[in-house]
Amino acid sequence: MPDTNVAIRTDYDAVVVGAGFSGLYMLHKLRELGLSAKVIEMADGVGGTWFWNRYPGARCDSESYYYCFTFSKEILLEWEWTSRYPEQPEILRYLNYIADKLDLRRDIQFNTRVMGARYDDSSGKWIIETESGEHLTATYFITAVGCLSSAQIPNFKGRETFRGKSYHTAQWPHEGVDFTGKRVAIIGTGSTGIQAIPVIARQAAHLTVFQRTPNYTVPARDMPMPPEFKQGVKARYDEIVQKTRESVFGMPFEFPTQSALEVAPEERDKVYEDLWNRGGFCFMLSSFHDLIIDPVANDTAAEYVRRKIREIVTDPETARKLSPYNHPIGTKRPPIDTDYYETFNRENVALIDIRSEPIEEITPDGIRTSKREYGVDAIVYATGFDAMTGSLFRLNIRGRDGILLQEKWADGPHTYLGIATVDFPNLFMITGPGSPSVLSNMPVSIEQHVEWIAACLGYMQSRGLNQIEPLREAEVAWDAHVAETAAATLFPRADSWYMGANIPGKPRVFFPYAGGVGAYRQHCAEIAANSYEGFVLSQHRERVAPR
Ligand code: FAD
Ligand code: NAP
Repeated sequence: MPDTNVAIRTDYDAVVVGAGFSGLYMLHKLRELGLSAKVIEMADGVGGTWFWNRYPGARCDSESYYYCFTFSKEILLEWEWTSRYPEQPEILRYLNYIADKLDLRRDIQFNTRVMGARYDDSSGKWIIETESGEHLTATYFITAVGCLSSAQIPNFKGRETFRGKSYHTAQWPHEGVDFTGKRVAIIGTGSTGIQAIPVIARQAAHLTVFQRTPNYTVPARDMPMPPEFKQGVKARYDEIVQKTRESVFGMPFEFPTQSALEVAPEERDKVYEDLWNRGGFCFMLSSFHDLIIDPVANDTAAEYVRRKIREIVTDPETARKLSPYNHPIGTKRPPIDTDYYETFNRENVALIDIRSEPIEEITPDGIRTSKREYGVDAIVYATGFDAMTGSLFRLNIRGRDGILLQEKWADGPHTYLGIATVDFPNLFMITGPGSPSVLSNMPVSIEQHVEWIAACLGYMQSRGLNQIEPLREAEVAWDAHVAETAAATLFPRADSWYMGANIPGKPRVFFPYAGGVGAYRQHCAEIAANSYEGFVLSQHRERVAPR
């Protein structure tokens, strides 16, 4: 018989939402501090991004040897990646291994969606409400909800009338989808579409790609991890980890010092050609230092990719449609691919440019554009996410005096360091807007945030403090710094999700921090060393209502 006198615990030092990379590591660090913690996760397993994104071709584009946790040498040495860019099932296995290795599951409540979180000024506690109506209380409320976890399907007229099957890539059925013999449409040519299109094209009877903006992509050149490479990486791990932490993008590449405009055109093309053949992000990151700040330098790389498209794609009209023209290379998150441009040489693949032929409606039998109806059996929405703030807003977070986060941020996010925001005491956001987050190899930024938050809580604990909130002037200064850093780059020139441009009505500001992982890390460390400069730390005393 269960002991009915034992109350189910609902009050914690910290409640964390999300059990991806961020939530898993946060839980581990909270436990190390001896704090009681609960992670709430709406999925029925750990993994976050890698739990949800099971579409054909899903894999990371950071390389496996640095797309991982680095806090534990034992884990680094124990885990074996099979390939340069592991596929989704392997990364999901890795995160399950982490959860088991650190015995995390006993403090994770799965299948539970957080619907609301409210700060109660009198008790100094957060009250967190789940979909089933359960209430938890916590001194600290930590969001680990991910920057790319709120799937976005455009509101096309007639969408619900479609008689075939529709899928968003981030809500992919766990049992997989067999497209054999099917006519498939895919909308979207971001990183996701670019990964999925070649794989679906190989299986489906016919694939029609609906493209709004042609994208620049560079070959990934995936390959199995040779044993000697693995050994070399393990032997040099300290050096690799150090490099990622000090780098601009959280990757262990040498940042180039040369300008694209300093070298003769033939020499420049040789650099691009070598990196194109090497594959992956190094095309952008290891070529020239000014690609993301100087439009003329940028265009040398953009034109190189356009030339490659013309070389690879046999039909000149298709090559023209695939050629990016309206944004500098790298100002939308750069995808990397396996046989993307080559796929448009297949007989069973058609490319529709929906700027010249807009989608008018989804019909019961397919997709109708301004020119004709395309009959299909299945539609794949590779249309992305309400990035950076979507999942935060869905938490309905209310701070002091009931202020709602989305009201405070109606004109764009306002944060201090991307970690905290005024009027929301004891709220910590892992990889929040205003931090390097999505501009970096994310595990590096996640580890830095989690470790900074844990150190901050440890500092407070050792001084008997339990309240932290940024100063308004610190937040205003950080917002200005985030904006001015972005303005010094070409990023604002693209209609990207970095700018909120993919979501109708979303404010047009640059959401992440473009100042670089290393510089940001150092800045955060200095703030901590200066007794958490820019924050007010205090001891909250429960207020008793007057009689
Ligand atoms: P997530 O993994 O997104 O986890 C957030 C969790 O919070 C989810 O499990 C979600 O279910 C849960 N959650 C959200 N809201 C609620 C709620 N209200 N209630 C309960 N639970 C909630 N980054 C890279 O650096 N390199 C890559 O190669 C790379 N590849 C990517 C590929 C894809 C397809 C996508 C979509 C993203 C990729 N990213 C990549 C970014 C990726 O999101 C991060 O690398 C990382 O996985 C984020 O981890 P996280 O724990 O912060 O967030
Ligand atoms: P995305 O980059 O936002 O791309 C969405 C695509 O859908 C774009 O081509 C967009 O066109 C199109 N689209 C959106 N709304 C549309 C509409 N109303 N009508 C027609 N087309 C529309 O989303 P994503 O590809 O899912 O990638 C999101 C991020 O996740 C990536 O940038 C990356 O950070 C991460 N990711 C990484 C990998 C990886 O390789 N590791 C893989 C997938 C995702 P426009 O360009 O015109 O807006």
